[in-house]
Amino acid sequence: MTRFEDERKEMIALLRKRGIKDELLLKAFQNVEREQFVLPAFVNRAYDDSALPIAHGQTISQPYTVAFQTEKLQAGKDSKILEIGTGSGYQAAILAEMGCRVFTIERHMELHLQARRLLEKLGYHVASRCGDGTVGWSEYAPYNGIIVTAAAPEVPQPLLDQLADGGRIVIPVGDLDTQSIRIIRKVGDRYESVDARGFKFVPLIGKEGWNGK
Ligand code: SAM
Repeated sequence: MTRFEDERKEMIALLRKRGIKDELLLKAFQNVEREQFVLPAFVNRAYDDSALPIAHGQTISQPYTVAFQTEKLQAGKDSKILEIGTGSGYQAAILAEMGCRVFTIERHMELHLQARRLLEKLGYHVASRCGDGTVGWSEYAPYNGIIVTAAAPEVPQPLLDQLADGGRIVIPVGDLDTQSIRIIRKVGDRYESVDARGFKFVPLIGKEGWNGK
C-alpha cells in the first residue's frame, strides 16, 4: 500500500467524521488521486484538510468543502453537471468519477489548459472551456446541477435560467471576506433555497460576479 493510499483513507475517515454520508461521493474521493492536482511543492500536503495554492493566486478547495458542496448537489450517475471555476480540475474529476456528465468553465487560460490536460491524462471525460462562467454554458443547458467554486456577490441569473426542473445550484454567496454556501432547488417556476454558513472562497470574477455590472 502506498503512502498516498493511507493518507486518502485518513481523509475519507475525516470526511465521514465531519458528516459526509454519500457513499458514491466517498468512493470517488477514494479513487481520485488528489496529489496529481496540487503543485509539486505541496504534494506532501495533498491530503491535508485545507485549501492549497494553485497558479494565478487561486486555490484547490479544501477536501471537506469539495465534499460538502458535492453532497449538497445530490448528483448521481448520469447527472448533467456544470461547474464554474475548474481551477486544478479536482472537483471535476470527483464528479466524473461519480459518473456525472461534467461541463466545466475556468476564466484563466493557463488553469483551463492544465486542468484539461490532466483530466485527459487521467482518463476523465469532461467538457471544458475557458471563459466567464457567470453567464453559464447555454449550449448544453439545462443542467441537473450547477456547482460554483468561487464566491459570488449574488446568484447569477443565467445560472438560474440554465437549471433543469428539480435541479440544484450550490454556490458560495456573500462579501469578499466570508460567505455562505447557498443551495437552491428549482421546483417548477419556484426556487427554494437554504444557506450553510462559514465558508471562504476566492472571488467569482465576471459579468454577473464581482467587477461585473
Ligand atoms: N474547483 C476547483 C478545484 O477543484 O481545484 C477550485 C477552484 S478555485 C477555489 C475557484 C476558481 O474559480 C479559480 O480557478 C478562479 O480562477 C475561477 N473563477 C473565478 N471567477 C470565474 C468565472 N467568472 N468563470 C470561471 N471561473 C472563474
